[in-house]
Amino acid sequence: MTIGIVGAGQLGRMLALAGYPLGFDFLFLDRDRDTPAARLAPILTGAFTDSALLDELAARSEVVTFDWENVSVEALARIERGTRIAPPLAALQTAQDRLLEKQLFAQLRIPTNRNTPVDSLPELTAAVQSLGLPGVLKARRLGYDGKGQVVLRTAADIETAWAQLQGSALLYEEFVPFDYEVSIIGARSSTGETAIYPLNRNLHRDGILRMTRAPWHAPSVEAAARRHLRRLLAHFNYVGVLTVEFFVRRGKLCANEMAPRVHNSGHWTIEGAVTSQFENHLRAILGLPLGDTTALGHSAMVNLIGEMPDKAVLLADKSLFLHDYGKVARPGRKLGHCTVMESTARRRDLRAASLLKRIDSRKIRG
Ligand code: AMP
Repeated sequence: MTIGIVGAGQLGRMLALAGYPLGFDFLFLDRDRDTPAARLAPILTGAFTDSALLDELAARSEVVTFDWENVSVEALARIERGTRIAPPLAALQTAQDRLLEKQLFAQLRIPTNRNTPVDSLPELTAAVQSLGLPGVLKARRLGYDGKGQVVLRTAADIETAWAQLQGSALLYEEFVPFDYEVSIIGARSSTGETAIYPLNRNLHRDGILRMTRAPWHAPSVEAAARRHLRRLLAHFNYVGVLTVEFFVRRGKLCANEMAPRVHNSGHWTIEGAVTSQFENHLRAILGLPLGDTTALGHSAMVNLIGEMPDKAVLLADKSLFLHDYGKVARPGRKLGHCTVMESTARRRDLRAASLLKRIDSRKIRG
C-alpha cells in the first residue's frame, strides 16, 4: 500500500521511517530531488502545482497527505475528486492564513491575542493605536520559523516594520509577554477515534524551535490545551495529526497557531512515546486503530540548527538518539535533532540544560 506525500522534507522522511515497519510504501512529490525524504523513497520532481504530477501521485497512492503547509490548496482540491486527501483541505487553508486561524480560534472560543489585518501604512498606524505597543506585524501567509514577522516596540518602528513586510497581506497582533510556550499534538482517525499526546513545553530562539520537553507537568494548562485541540479536531472532522501552539501567561493559554501536520515539538515521540506522532498520522489517515500516546519517560528534544555537531562527540553519550536529516548546512536551517530520556522530569531538565549548552558551545562542533 502506497502513501503519497506532497513535500519531501524531514517530516516526510520521518513519516516514511515510521511507516516501513508496518509494510507501507511511500511516494513523494517535491520541487527538488535533493531532499531528506528522497533519500529513502521514490520521488516525483516538479512544481507542487503540476497537475500531471499530482494526478500521478494520486493514481499511485491509497491516500495523499502533505508534510508542510505551503502547498497549494487549489491544486490539491483538484485531485481530491478522485483520491482521498488527509488532513482535510479546510484545515490546511485555515493554517495557511494567520487571520483565518485567529478568526477560527475566536469562533471556537479558543483564547487568542487581539489582532487585526493590515494592508496599508495608515492601517498599521491605526492598528498600533488601537492594539497598542509592543506588537508583532506578521505576514498572513507563508511565514514559518519566525520568518516574515517584526516586533514593534515604539511608534518609530511603524515605518521600518512596514518597509520590511509591505507587499504581502499582513496582520498586527498584541505582543504576549508569555511565561513559556507549549504545544499539544493529537491524532484523529477517519473512524473518529482520537488520541492526544502529553503536553510539550517549547523553547524558541530567533523564532525557531530550539528545544521541547515532554511530558510537561502543568495539569490545568494541559487540560485546557486538550479541550481546545478537541474543538479544532471536531470542527474540521479532522483526519491525521494536528498541532496547536500556545503562549502561557499566568497559567492561562493564548493560542498562537495551528499546524495541520506532524510537528517538530512532537519529534520526541519517536523514542519517547509508545507510538510516535508519525506512526499515528499514518494510522489515522488509513483509518487504522491509533497507537498508545503514553510517554515512556521524560524526554527532551534539542534541534540541531545551522551546523551539524560532530557526531562522534554527540554519540559518546550512549543513551542519546540522533537524527540527521541529511541536509546541506545553512544558517538557521534545521539539520537534525537529538532526544534524551530520563526517569524523572528533574533529571530530564538537568540533562536537557547541559545538552543544550554543549550543542551551543564549540566543544561539540566538528
Ligand atoms: P510564529 O511564527 O507565530 O510561531 O512565531 C514564532 C515565535 O515568535 C513564537 O513561538 C514566539 O516565541 C514568538 N512570537 C510570535 N508571536 C508573538 C507574540 N504575539 N508575542 C510574543 N512572542 C511572539
